[in-house]
Amino acid sequence: MKFSDLRQANITRQKEWPGNDQADIAFRGLEVAGEFGEVAEALKKYLRGTRGIKGSTAELQDVANEMADAIIALDLLADQMGIDLGAAVTRKFNATSKKYGLETQIDDAKSVD
Ligand SMILES: [Mg+2]
Repeated sequence: MKFSDLRQANITRQKEWPGNDQADIAFRGLEVAGEFGEVAEALKKYLRGTRGIKGSTAELQDVANEMADAIIALDLLADQMGIDLGAAVTRKFNATSKKYGLETQIDDAKSVD
Protein backbone atom coordinates (compact mmCIF):
# COMPACT_ATOMS: atom_id res chain seq x y z
CA MET A 1 0.00 0.00 0.00
CA LYS A 2 1.26 3.45 -0.89
CA PHE A 3 0.31 6.82 0.63
CA SER A 4 -1.41 7.63 -2.65
CA ASP A 5 -3.58 4.49 -2.31
CA LEU A 6 -4.60 5.54 1.20
CA ARG A 7 -5.39 9.08 0.02
CA GLN A 8 -7.63 7.83 -2.79
CA ALA A 9 -9.45 5.41 -0.48
CA ASN A 10 -9.89 8.13 2.17
CA ILE A 11 -11.33 10.54 -0.41
CA THR A 12 -13.74 7.91 -1.72
CA ARG A 13 -14.87 6.75 1.72
CA GLN A 14 -15.39 10.27 3.05
CA LYS A 15 -17.96 10.82 0.28
CA GLU A 16 -20.10 8.09 1.84
CA TRP A 17 -19.35 8.97 5.50
CA PRO A 18 -22.41 10.64 7.10
CA GLY A 19 -21.60 14.08 8.47
CA ASN A 20 -18.22 14.32 6.76
CA ASP A 21 -19.05 17.83 5.55
CA GLN A 22 -18.82 18.98 9.18
CA ALA A 23 -15.27 17.64 9.63
CA ASP A 24 -13.10 20.74 9.21
CA ILE A 25 -9.35 21.08 9.81
CA ALA A 26 -9.84 21.65 13.55
CA PHE A 27 -11.93 18.47 13.81
CA ARG A 28 -9.34 16.52 11.83
CA GLY A 29 -6.57 17.83 14.08
CA LEU A 30 -8.42 16.65 17.17
CA GLU A 31 -9.04 13.33 15.46
CA VAL A 32 -5.29 12.93 14.82
CA ALA A 33 -4.45 13.76 18.43
CA GLY A 34 -7.10 11.33 19.66
CA GLU A 35 -5.87 8.49 17.51
CA PHE A 36 -2.23 8.98 18.53
CA GLY A 37 -3.44 8.99 22.12
CA GLU A 38 -5.10 5.64 21.42
CA VAL A 39 -1.74 4.34 20.16
CA ALA A 40 -0.17 5.35 23.47
CA GLU A 41 -2.96 3.71 25.46
CA ALA A 42 -2.74 0.45 23.49
CA LEU A 43 1.04 0.47 23.90
CA LYS A 44 0.71 0.98 27.65
CA LYS A 45 -1.70 -1.94 27.88
CA TYR A 46 0.55 -4.06 25.68
CA LEU A 47 3.54 -3.35 27.94
CA ARG A 48 1.39 -4.05 30.97
CA GLY A 49 0.71 -7.49 29.53
CA THR A 50 4.32 -8.23 28.66
CA ARG A 51 5.58 -7.06 32.08
CA GLY A 52 2.93 -8.74 34.20
CA ILE A 53 1.50 -5.51 35.58
CA LYS A 54 -2.05 -5.92 36.86
CA GLY A 55 -4.76 -4.24 34.79
CA SER A 56 -6.32 -4.47 31.36
CA THR A 57 -3.95 -5.53 28.59
CA ALA A 58 -3.73 -5.28 24.81
CA GLU A 59 -2.27 -7.46 22.09
CA LEU A 60 0.27 -6.37 19.50
CA GLN A 61 -2.54 -6.37 16.93
CA ASP A 62 -4.40 -3.81 19.05
CA VAL A 63 -1.36 -1.53 18.90
CA ALA A 64 -1.12 -2.08 15.14
CA ASN A 65 -4.80 -1.22 14.71
CA GLU A 66 -4.40 2.07 16.57
CA MET A 67 -1.27 2.91 14.57
CA ALA A 68 -3.32 2.34 11.42
CA ASP A 69 -6.12 4.59 12.71
CA ALA A 70 -3.55 7.30 13.45
CA ILE A 71 -2.07 7.17 9.94
CA ILE A 72 -5.52 7.17 8.35
CA ALA A 73 -6.54 10.21 10.43
CA LEU A 74 -3.26 11.98 9.62
CA ASP A 75 -3.88 11.46 5.91
CA LEU A 76 -7.39 12.92 6.26
CA LEU A 77 -5.93 16.02 7.91
CA ALA A 78 -3.16 16.27 5.32
CA ASP A 79 -5.72 15.99 2.53
CA GLN A 80 -7.83 18.84 3.88
CA MET A 81 -4.71 20.99 4.17
CA GLY A 82 -3.52 20.15 0.65
CA ILE A 83 -0.46 18.27 1.86
CA ASP A 84 0.94 15.34 -0.11
CA LEU A 85 1.90 13.09 2.80
CA GLY A 86 4.13 10.79 0.75
CA ALA A 87 6.09 13.72 -0.64
CA ALA A 88 6.34 15.31 2.81
CA VAL A 89 7.66 12.10 4.38
CA THR A 90 10.21 11.68 1.60
CA ARG A 91 11.37 15.29 1.91
CA LYS A 92 11.65 15.18 5.71
CA PHE A 93 13.27 11.73 5.87
CA ASN A 94 15.93 12.79 3.37
CA ALA A 95 16.49 16.15 5.09
CA THR A 96 17.04 14.42 8.44
CA SER A 97 19.52 11.97 6.87
CA LYS A 98 21.40 14.87 5.32
CA LYS A 99 21.38 16.84 8.58
CA TYR A 100 23.02 13.99 10.48
CA GLY A 101 25.38 12.90 7.69
CA LEU A 102 23.59 9.61 7.03
CA GLU A 103 23.52 8.04 3.58
CA THR A 104 20.04 6.51 3.63
CA GLN A 105 17.62 8.38 1.39
CA ILE A 106 14.15 7.62 0.04
CA ASP A 107 14.12 7.60 -3.72
CA ASP A 108 11.66 10.27 -4.85
CA ALA A 109 10.62 8.19 -7.84
CA LYS A 110 9.31 5.27 -5.77
CA SER A 111 8.62 4.03 -2.23
CA VAL A 112 6.29 6.26 -0.23
CA ASP A 113 4.31 7.78 -3.10
MG1 LIG B 1 -8.46 4.24 17.12
